[in-house]
Amino acid sequence: MSLHAIRQHRAVRASGKRAEDVAARIEAHIVQLGWPSGQVLGSERELLDKYKVSRATLREAVRLLEHHMVARMRPGPRGGLVVMTPDADVVSRAMALYLSHAGVDARQLLEMRGIVEGQAAALAAANATPIEIDEMRVLLAEENELVEGSYRHTKDFHLHVAEMSRNPVMVLFVRCLTALTEARTVPALARKEIAGRVNDIHTRIAESIMAGDAETARRRMTRHIHAIDEFLDDKSPVVVAKPKAKARA
Ligand SMILES: [Zn+2]
Repeated sequence: MSLHAIRQHRAVRASGKRAEDVAARIEAHIVQLGWPSGQVLGSERELLDKYKVSRATLREAVRLLEHHMVARMRPGPRGGLVVMTPDADVVSRAMALYLSHAGVDARQLLEMRGIVEGQAAALAAANATPIEIDEMRVLLAEENELVEGSYRHTKDFHLHVAEMSRNPVMVLFVRCLTALTEARTVPALARKEIAGRVNDIHTRIAESIMAGDAETARRRMTRHIHAIDEFLDDKSPVVVAKPKAKARA
């Protein structure tokens, strides 16, 4: 590499670093404001004055913010940098793809689900509101029929328990881990006859949550998660989505 090329490379890297810094400062500002989705933080001109960087650096910072679903630049007279609401689906899917790429196997997946969802069930027993309990009853009453139609509905109960935990970290992790489990469930093994069995187990977990018995809820949920093993294909790493180009390589 020539000296000129090295200098140019350094300049590009320094400008990338500045863009990251500005993006981090804007993110910190949004958190400080209490994440006001939809609020305009300022026009490009105002942001250039505030952060004292070049237009190119600011645009790179905005590109990072848009990529992370933190804020986006809205054009037009009433435009400017608008605070976004991050999408849990997009985030949990990105996590699932990453774990898939990292080659997570069924045993590792269920090991984590056992810990995370056992804790979710225990917290649900402590924190669930009467409305959430009613919703859980409705969910369980309809579950048999839904699971008979598609095994994909077995995760609904798990997502509801995660939500009752009142811990957004739990909700995001359960979304990601259930999506990964679903991706490797063998549909042939997840037929009609297991719908009733799943519903019975979920009902038992629900009973301990309704009774406010955190430790029983944790134990039942953990045991249930480990039993999912028989429906999973654990011969190969999880594949959520496989790019076609890679198959040819
Ligand atoms: Zn289940």
